[in-house]
Amino acid sequence: MVLDNLGSSLRGTMDKLRGKSRLDEEDVQEIVKEIQRSLLQADVEVDLVMDLSSNIEERALNEEPPGGTSARDHILKIVYEEMVEVVGDSTEIPLEPQTIMLAGLQGSGKTTTAAKMAWWFSTKGLRPAVIQTDTFRPGAYEQAKQMCENAEVQFYGDPDAEDPVQIARDGMEATEDADIRIVDTAGRHALEADLIEEIEEIERAVAPDRNLLVLDAAIGQGAKAQAREFDSAVGVDGVAITKLDGTAKGGGALTAVNETDSSIAFLGTGETVQDIERFEPNGFISRLLG
Ligand code: GDP
Repeated sequence: MVLDNLGSSLRGTMDKLRGKSRLDEEDVQEIVKEIQRSLLQADVEVDLVMDLSSNIEERALNEEPPGGTSARDHILKIVYEEMVEVVGDSTEIPLEPQTIMLAGLQGSGKTTTAAKMAWWFSTKGLRPAVIQTDTFRPGAYEQAKQMCENAEVQFYGDPDAEDPVQIARDGMEATEDADIRIVDTAGRHALEADLIEEIEEIERAVAPDRNLLVLDAAIGQGAKAQAREFDSAVGVDGVAITKLDGTAKGGGALTAVNETDSSIAFLGTGETVQDIERFEPNGFISRLLG
């Protein structure tokens, strides 16, 4: 059954439908309101919430449940399908040689995610390397190096160099033996022009196969502008959401994937290199609606 770990509030509303074979307008409205409330609380953007809920409402009122399906299971299926329509399946990450560049604001969790992804690829039998180009944030070099040691993966960085683009170039050369290169980039506190310019230059230097936008689960409404900006600069192929072990639900990711027409690749669920999961829609959607 889809959405089997729904949060208690929506589940309660759904459970009131047990035994019903048809939904009346009042039932549908109550459920749609509940869904709107959950999604807004999870920081999904208002327009997106409205689009989603009107699609759900229309289908729930107009589509007949297939024979033998209860009203409750029917609307759950509609909710799930409409949410999947936006969230999509997990970003395709083939287990083959490739370069992946990470983008995002400072503190979003890029460096941590770079090391986690390298660890994840290493568990798939590949030889990953992390290239650290963040010369902006003090401590980024040491942090990345330490995490890569913990993950037992190759690391390239240069604490004395000042030009991130040159580090990226040198890093590509120095990690020739690796089959997966994960390029960490500098973030800033906001989307300043020099950040965008720098990431465009690094992108040209490393020619990544895919770019992932790293977003803190708590990003909320700020996700839209960020996603748009990075997408127009370098193209966003997928999103990594971090800090899902906290209380934030990660609704900003939904906004970001909708804005960039991409999907979610990885979830970060803690501070150690093993705290990473591939995205899977069912659990994430249940959490958003919880
Ligand atoms: P960057 O500036 O984007 O490179 O961000 P960092 O990788 O340095 O992460 C910023 C902070 O968030 C650090 O203290 C990390 O330990 C923490 N962090 C990153 N990912 C996660 C996560 O999935 N869960 C938790 N609890 N903390 C995380």
